[in-house]
Amino acid sequence: MNSLHDLIQNNGSPHWVDFWTAIGWLGNAVFFSRFFVQWYATEKKGQVVVPAVFWILSLAGSLLMLAYAIFYDKHHVIIFAYAFTWIPYLRNLIIHYRHEKAHLACANCGTRVPPQTNFCPHCGTKLLAATSSP
Ligand SMILES: [Zn+2]
Repeated sequence: MNSLHDLIQNNGSPHWVDFWTAIGWLGNAVFFSRFFVQWYATEKKGQVVVPAVFWILSLAGSLLMLAYAIFYDKHHVIIFAYAFTWIPYLRNLIIHYRHEKAHLACANCGTRVPPQTNFCPHCGTKLLAATSSP
């Protein structure tokens, strides 16, 4: 009989094998999904782009896989494979959000425009940052 009790208990000890296998597969699914996100964004724009969600999925998937590797698989090859990949994912997210924060609002129409843009792409107004730069 498969009750919830049977699923989480196995001869009196917690059934951690199923829990960590689920974490491992969740990590794989999250990590794999980033390819579709990046591919879709690239096809939509007609040029190679890497959206922020790609880095979020990369970070989440690799941390789940790292947890699986450390707490369940415990094999140094798998642990090493995910031990450092989170660093560039996190760094790309920091740079992305820093860039987003540096966006300017057009004084005329309020459209948010990327830094170092001379004219508002919506209304054509010359932006203040463009006039102050040499
Ligand atoms: Zn404008």
